[in-house]
Amino acid sequence: MRTVGRAGLALRLTALAMAVLGGAAAMLGPVPAVGLAGRPVASSRSGPVERRPARQAPDVNPVAARRVAFRAHSARPLPDVRLAAPSPEHAPPDAAVILAFSVPVDTVATQESFRIQPAVPGVIQWPDPTTLAFQPLSPLAFGTTYAVSVSAMPAGGSGPDGGGTFRFTTAHPAPALPVPYTLTFDDCGTAQAIHGILDALADRGLHAIFFPTGMCRDQFPWLVPTLLAAGHRVCNHTYSHPVLPRLSNAAIATEIRRGVSVNCNLFRPPYGALDASGRVVSVAASLGYRIQLWDVDTRDWAGTPADVMVAMIRARGGVVLFHMHGLHTIEAIGQL
Ligand SMILES: [Zn+2]
Repeated sequence: MRTVGRAGLALRLTALAMAVLGGAAAMLGPVPAVGLAGRPVASSRSGPVERRPARQAPDVNPVAARRVAFRAHSARPLPDVRLAAPSPEHAPPDAAVILAFSVPVDTVATQESFRIQPAVPGVIQWPDPTTLAFQPLSPLAFGTTYAVSVSAMPAGGSGPDGGGTFRFTTAHPAPALPVPYTLTFDDCGTAQAIHGILDALADRGLHAIFFPTGMCRDQFPWLVPTLLAAGHRVCNHTYSHPVLPRLSNAAIATEIRRGVSVNCNLFRPPYGALDASGRVVSVAASLGYRIQLWDVDTRDWAGTPADVMVAMIRARGGVVLFHMHGLHTIEAIGQL
């Protein structure tokens, strides 16, 4: 078993882009000069920000001016635009930029106003008049914030225009270790700690296996859907984290049944505790589970320093045991 990594994430986002684009998107050909290096987006002459008020009285505030313009062309709604992809904070380096407009726009004029900074060569497609998709021709730089701006002209001639500037930051390179490894995260943690782990994994483009307790799922109803949406596997670690060999077979079964079960047949007994007679293994098997222990025990819950944990992972690889309540766990992910 090995970490899915950035490729998997990128694949999913590409799939998302394809879903948005649809199959019949017409290629409009390369954009000759997308983005003008050294020219700030906000001050760009054709930039989307506050270009309309210049036609009004000079001391009129932009919002009021836009309202006046809107009334003058009341038949046409003001196009609004949002960044549909990529994720603003963890964009994959091969991300497509997808802008979604609230109403059909003049694709030629709108495309003309499209800018990305730093400049990137790419092609623009219009799956439909409300969707602009920009596909860079080469991978974006790692750990870089890009600004995308567009001025949205309504389709069919004159009218008020809308637009906006959006920023997104690409993920850091996925860890390149000499050994394959899979990160796993057990138990539970504070909401802040869990989100910190998710952010750190997304920063590195990593997917992991989570073993939350059923109690953790009950405490944080958002947890399992959030983990699945981020592409992680979510497996069973009992309901209340007991020492299973001390329980009857029936009680073991109840603990497993009340645990988290989301399309994963892996079961990790609390403390890794198995009995010599094999009762835990056989009860788990009777419920369709196989036991998943670990190769590297970071003891992150006891405060193992991040650099020590990273060295342990580099030295051995395999299945790595972390916890959602580890003291330096987030730091270690960042150092992988
Ligand atoms: Zn545990």
